[in-house]
Order: sequence, then structure tokens, then C-alpha cells
Amino acid sequence: MQSEYLRKVIEETEAKNSYEKEFIQALKEVLSSIEPVIIQHEKEFRDSALLERLVEPERIVSFRVPWTDDKGQVQVNRGYRVQFNGAIGPYKGGLRFHPSVNQSIMKFLAFEQIFKNALTTRPIGGGKGGSDFDPKGKSDREIMSFCQSFMNELQKYIGHDLDVPAGDIGVGGREIGYLFGQYRKIRNTYEAGVLTGKGLEYGGSLARKEATGYGLMYFMREMLKANNISLEGKTAIISGSGNVAIYACEKAHQLGVKVIAMSDSTGCILDEKGIKLDVVKQIKEVQRGRIKEYLNFVPSAVYLENNGSIPAVYTLKADIVLPCATQNDINLEAAKLLTDKKIIAVGEGANMPCTNEAVAYFLEHKVLLAPGKAANAGGVATSALEMTQNSMRDAWTFEEVDRKLESIMINIFRQIQEAEKEYNLNRNYVAGANIAAFKKISAAMTAQGII
Ligand code: NDP
Repeated sequence: MQSEYLRKVIEETEAKNSYEKEFIQALKEVLSSIEPVIIQHEKEFRDSALLERLVEPERIVSFRVPWTDDKGQVQVNRGYRVQFNGAIGPYKGGLRFHPSVNQSIMKFLAFEQIFKNALTTRPIGGGKGGSDFDPKGKSDREIMSFCQSFMNELQKYIGHDLDVPAGDIGVGGREIGYLFGQYRKIRNTYEAGVLTGKGLEYGGSLARKEATGYGLMYFMREMLKANNISLEGKTAIISGSGNVAIYACEKAHQLGVKVIAMSDSTGCILDEKGIKLDVVKQIKEVQRGRIKEYLNFVPSAVYLENNGSIPAVYTLKADIVLPCATQNDINLEAAKLLTDKKIIAVGEGANMPCTNEAVAYFLEHKVLLAPGKAANAGGVATSALEMTQNSMRDAWTFEEVDRKLESIMINIFRQIQEAEKEYNLNRNYVAGANIAAFKKISAAMTAQGII
């Protein structure tokens, strides 16, 4: 690393937050790749402590969430909201309900979100929130009880011009509905733009549910096109079978890609004839079951249980790999295995699904890598479109929203390509995305003074 200033900021931030390993991982990935811009403006950034301010959240709230289960027992979880950077607009980012949630994971997600949101060209800052609550196996009433208690506290910190949460792992349409209902009751106002991912009946946007997965495939198509490769006729494997995975699969099929495998946290299904998505939707969106149940509908498919350090889905062979589950899903070992199997490209539907070592390995071996903060930005971009419709008290058609989403994804890839050309990045789209976003964020922060 050439920049003394950059090295100092990374070292100091690591020392100060040594126990937050996911946050440090995200921070190192981003900061090390924006060095060419730092070198150009080193004195200006150092004098205004721009990087020191960038890595420190504007605000973090952490709170108690008591709720009562179906047996009448009181349970207590911990809630978070990280409002990382509001230079470009109201904080925006999803809520994650998963037992692994802690401050480090919240901070990494919120930090990534600042850059992702800048790339969308919509006026939204970066935030994230959630809880260590585990929705698996809970009844609807328990989910509602938890969501209401969570919102009792969260409502103090959000608003349509302040901070606009949405869904993420464990938070889908049902949870957003309960959260919105409680916000409306407490605040006694119909503030539709305070949450996105809402139901269509009460201010949601058509195509929001599909947006992250669809956007991922639009981005993949652009990235491959720029490298003279067509998506059509390729095979793909997808990790996860949640919101992002399902709609990535849907759009992949529409674009002529055969998806042969999908997974959940226990294992994966392999269907060489092509995944039957209506079956996956029935299992995951209706029954809230396990991916293994696919075999009840398609007996010719195969189920592979996870065992060992590489999730089973990554031991399969395909042209394109779409990690759409969770962070650090693809480690160096998995990256080596996939590269040996001659994959063409990886598209990060999830946030930080590849470890930094895996990213470096893919780049070194010329595997095209679509970084999550760009490739999965379609979800938040469409959330911003939902906010626009709420402000206008209007509702656009599916086609209208989808068209806007597609043009946003094309534009995101163009911004990255411009950075790639300007800084001679040689198809390193990870650095391209970080640089393009950082230029915008640093300009907004500089313009607003030292705050
Ligand atoms: P969902 O809750 O709908 O689905 C998550 C999927 O990932 C499930 O199949 C789940 O399996 C699997 N999964 C979760 N945790 C783990 C784990 N620790 N190990 C293995 N598999 C796991 O979430 P989303 O689809 O909304 O989110 C998926 C990813 O995409 C996340 O990284 C999220 O941050 C990111 N993302 C989501 C956006 C959105 O609009 N929803 C926008 C941009 C990014 P199981 O059921 O077994 O837990």
C-alpha cells in the first residue's frame, strides 16, 4: 500500500473495532481498492479527516426487544439500527432478523450500503438494522408480537426524510406489514414512505419483490456483454432460495440461462433439467419449508446435504455462480474449486458472499466478478422508486418499474466501466464499483463540511 494516510486509517480503525471482524473485512476490501483516488486527493482528505469520518457511523442505536411467545413466556432480543452515512440522502437499508446478527454484521452491511446506494444514483444514504431474533419455526402471532415490539423502539429513529428501512434476510412482506402497521398506530399518521417492500395494497411498488434478483441478472448480462459473452445457453448454480435467489432464478430463465441448483442453509438440490421455480416458490414462499422438499415434487432431482467447509452447492459445475444467501459463503477453498471447474463469472446477489481471499483469487484467475454492492443494488434502487411513488401518491405499472430498474442497472455498470477505464483496472469491477461510489460520497461529504 503506497498511501501512508490510508494505511494509518485502516490500522487505527482495525485496532478500535478489533472485535468486529465482518466490518473490518468490508472496510479493508473497500478502502484498499480506492487507493488510486486517495493518492490523487491525499492532502485534502487528510486535512478534513475524510476517511476517519467515513468509517465512523453517524449513529448506532441498540435496544431491547421484549415480546411474548405462544406459551405466554417473555422473550428478549436485541435490536439495532446503524445510520452510517446520510450525506447523499435519508439513511436507507434493510432489516435483518437472524440469530447471527450482531453489531459487526450490522456495521458491515450499513457500510456496504453507503456505496451501493451511491451507485444507484438515487438520493439515499446508507444504513442497516435488524435483530438476533430467529423467525424460523415461529407462528404468525409470534412474528407479529416481535415486529410490534421492535417497532415500538425503532419508530423513534426513522421517518421518510430521516431513515427508511426495508427487508433483508428473515424480513419479507409479512414482517414489513406488521412493522408498518405498528408505526402507523404509534405515530397516528399514514407515512407510506417510512418503509419499503410494502404490500401492493398499502403503498408497495410492483416489481420490488423481484427487483434484487432481476437486477442481478440485468447486471450480469451487461458485464458479460462487455466481455463479448452471451448469457444465453449458459448454466448457473444459485446459493440460497430466499427472495434474491428466487427472482434471480426467474430472470435467469427468462434470459435463457438454465439454473440447475439452489440451496438453503442445510443443503442444495440439483435438477439437471433446470430448476422448477414454481415448486421452489411453493416450498419457500407458501409453505416456508426446506429446499429438500423439492424432491417430493420432482423425484428425479438430487439432494446434497452440506458437510465440510464448502457448501454442497459450490461443489457442482456450471458456467455462472450466483451466491444469493449470506456473507462469506465462498471461501478461498470454494473459490479454487469453482475456478478449477472453469466457471466464467460470479454474480454476488448476497452482500459480501465471497471472502476477501476468494475475491482476490477470482480476480487473479480472470473469473469475471460482479460485486454485490453493484450487482444487488436493484433492490434498494427499486425501494427508492417505491419512495418516489409514495411521495407522488402514484403507482406505476410492473413494466414501468422494471424498465426503470433495468436502466438503473445498465447505468451502474457504465459507471463502473468508466472507473475501470480511468484507473486501468483491467476488468476489476470490484475496485471499479468502490471507486465510482467513493467519488460521489466523498464529494458530497466534502461539500457539506466537517460534520
Ligand atoms: P431471505 O431471508 O429471503 O433468504 C435467505 C436465504 O439464504 C435462505 O435460503 C437462507 O436459508 C439462506 N441463508 C441465510 N443465512 C444463511 C447461512 N448462514 N448459511 C447458509 N444459508 C443461509 O433473504 P434475502 O434473499 O432477502 O437475502 C439474501 C442475501 O441478499 C443477503 O445477503 C441480503 O443481505 C442480500 N440482499 C437482499 C436484498 C433484498 O432485496 N432482499 C437486497 C440486496 C441484498 P435458510 O432458510 O436455511 O436460512
